Amino acid sequence: MSNFDVIVLGSGPGGYVTAIRAAQLGFKTAIVEKESLGGVCLNWGCIPTKALLKSAQVFEYLKHAEDYGLSAKKVEHDFDAVVKRSRGVADGMSKGIQFLMKKNKIEVLNGYGKVQPGKKVVVKGEHGDPAEYTANHIIIATGARSRELPSLPQDGKKVIGYREAMSLEKQPKKMIVVGSGAIGIEFAYFYNSMGTEVTVVEYLPNIVPVEDEDVSKQLERSFKKAGVKIKTSAEVTHVDTSGDGVKATIKTSKGEEVLEADIVLSAVGIKTNIENIGLEDVGIAVDRDKILVNDYYQTNIPGYYAIGDVTPGQALAHVASAEGILCVEKIAGMHVEALDYGNIPGCTYCVPEVASVGLTEKQAKEQGYDIKVGKFPFSASGKAKASGTPDGFVKVIFDAKYGEWLGCHMIGVGVTDMIAEAVVARKLETTGHEVLKAVHPHPTMSEAVMEAVADAYDEVIHL
Ligand SMILES: Cc1cc2nc3c(=O)[nH]c(=O)nc-3n(C[C@H](O)[C@H](O)[C@H](O)COP(=O)(O)OP(=O)(O)OC[C@H]3O[C@@H](n4cnc5c(N)ncnc54)[C@H](O)[C@@H]3O)c2cc1C
Repeated sequence: MSNFDVIVLGSGPGGYVTAIRAAQLGFKTAIVEKESLGGVCLNWGCIPTKALLKSAQVFEYLKHAEDYGLSAKKVEHDFDAVVKRSRGVADGMSKGIQFLMKKNKIEVLNGYGKVQPGKKVVVKGEHGDPAEYTANHIIIATGARSRELPSLPQDGKKVIGYREAMSLEKQPKKMIVVGSGAIGIEFAYFYNSMGTEVTVVEYLPNIVPVEDEDVSKQLERSFKKAGVKIKTSAEVTHVDTSGDGVKATIKTSKGEEVLEADIVLSAVGIKTNIENIGLEDVGIAVDRDKILVNDYYQTNIPGYYAIGDVTPGQALAHVASAEGILCVEKIAGMHVEALDYGNIPGCTYCVPEVASVGLTEKQAKEQGYDIKVGKFPFSASGKAKASGTPDGFVKVIFDAKYGEWLGCHMIGVGVTDMIAEAVVARKLETTGHEVLKAVHPHPTMSEAVMEAVADAYDEVIHL
């Protein structure tokens, strides 16, 4: 039996980052993984989707070369090559994690892990008997998978989840995307750009429903302009896969209709991997499908912790990593501040991109704030005009009384790289006045943040 200071179960952006930070802090660390290092994020999530989206964006630019005074004749795409490129990027990233494990002297235990009482982890590899390990601290980071709705059972062929959607052998002619969160919207953009006829079905009244309503409406307009069909306040009640394609029955306030497609992508959220990992054996408390933890990710059983998608909080890679770092720093006796879940940026990488942090206008009003709202459209931005990408805006929301920056909402090209400004400013409790006096470079898309803040205080220059 091998003994460790820390064993991490699962090597996603939660697990592998936790393991590296633990090793940096001097802990003898092991990580257990049943598939490829890097988890969903590197292998089946953040990274391969961004590779697909990049291909789609380059394709769009080439198709519109004339807008830039250029000529690109006979622009075609090779779906297979696009998918292969994405898989190659994912494989390369996973290999990078292997290198990081080696560099930080973290033992990688390949196989299916289960936590057990007595601070034990049992790992069953492909061959041989299960091996038992002990650790003073066991951190569960087993992540999540695609959620299945009873009305939409996934067969992996005609009704698929995100894994299949990024590795299809043949491009579908028609696709229905159920769910318009970040995952559904990114695939809708990708497939529409590649020439698939895409219909998005969303249960709630707006697409990207967690975003500010102005952003949802703008994205809906952009998607419709690009040819994506959108059905909101609509529910898939039944799918019939018996024929050549799929027939999906959709219920709306106007009644029922049947949509036909080659493939239905179910993008209705995630289900955590908490089954059969020994939680019941140890007595670790869960609520619905999340492991319950305190501010430092300790479960109800001393010595057992959980971070990432298996815990409550936003299911995002950067959240998983931040939680893991905080968890091991606390174990190491460092002074740590609990994570502020109200200051987590969320991004959707379609075109135009969407990025936001903090309260939406509706939430700020519901919470009783007297607010100042500022908005700056990219159509008034020199950089956006020069780039040929004038769609979208930056919207900021301030508390009128104390000047607290309550929320920032962006839609436009490149905004996912701009949102960090608002995150840092909010973390530092910066007021609008200070943002205004922080000189932004010209010409950049980021000037729109300064101008939106100026608009909130009736000082906007370029409107
Ligand atoms: C299509 C898609 C796109 C996404 N895009 C983004 C994005 O752009 N930005 C963003 O922030 N987030 C994105 N996400 C979400 C992000 O991928 C997750 O929030 C993140 O991966 C969660 O990290 P994690 O470490 O908690 O778990 P995971 O990444 O799910 O990793 C868990 C790991 O544990 C392993 N495991 C599970 N059970 C066991 C066991 N019993 N024994 C051994 N190993 C086990 C799994 O094999 C897996 O490798 C996306 C998700 C999807 C599906």
